[in-house]
Amino acid sequence: MKIQFLGAAGEVTGSRHSIEVMLAGRPRHFMVDYGMFQGGREASNKNLEPLPINPNDLDFVVLTHAHIDHSGLLPRLCAQGFKGPIYCTTATYELLKILLPDSAHLQFADLERAERKAKQGKWHGDMPVALYSRVEVDMTLAQFEPLDYGKVLELAPGIQLEFRNAGHILGSAIAVMDIQEDGTPKKTLCLFRGYWHERQSADA
Ligand SMILES: [Zn+2]
Repeated sequence: MKIQFLGAAGEVTGSRHSIEVMLAGRPRHFMVDYGMFQGGREASNKNLEPLPINPNDLDFVVLTHAHIDHSGLLPRLCAQGFKGPIYCTTATYELLKILLPDSAHLQFADLERAERKAKQGKWHGDMPVALYSRVEVDMTLAQFEPLDYGKVLELAPGIQLEFRNAGHILGSAIAVMDIQEDGTPKKTLCLFRGYWHERQSADA
């Protein structure tokens, strides 16, 4: 199992974990959270950086909660070619039906404002960038597969997901994943808000 934190060291926004496992002779690659970097020009540049992996090669995404610093770049990932399912709790999905369109709207509003000012010669510095459109948000929302707390779902042979209530915001979850990799004892991975804990299952 290879776990990588793709945000910059010491960063509190832009939460993304890349996890690679070998299951039944096949490599699987998934992400836990895919958040937006927030705060200033440096954060904006980070949001534009390409992923170190091809989004087409990702099997699925697991989302712990709806805050934009954990979910806000999903429409960009989907626009760049990710076509797989995005798993989250039912309440997180309901929140994202509001938050992601709002995020796209705010980005376009910022850009329009900057363009208006630029025409009047009152804008200095780089133009803001709209990371994705409302249409791309709608396409992303169609990829969600909501799962209720306490229900166990097999995401692939040898990998099971259960969401447990995390008490952070409505719908937030600790993602508990049982992973049976080839040639190793079963492991349980617990992920929440950018933290992860890995342990070997007692019954393995
Ligand atoms: Zn949060």
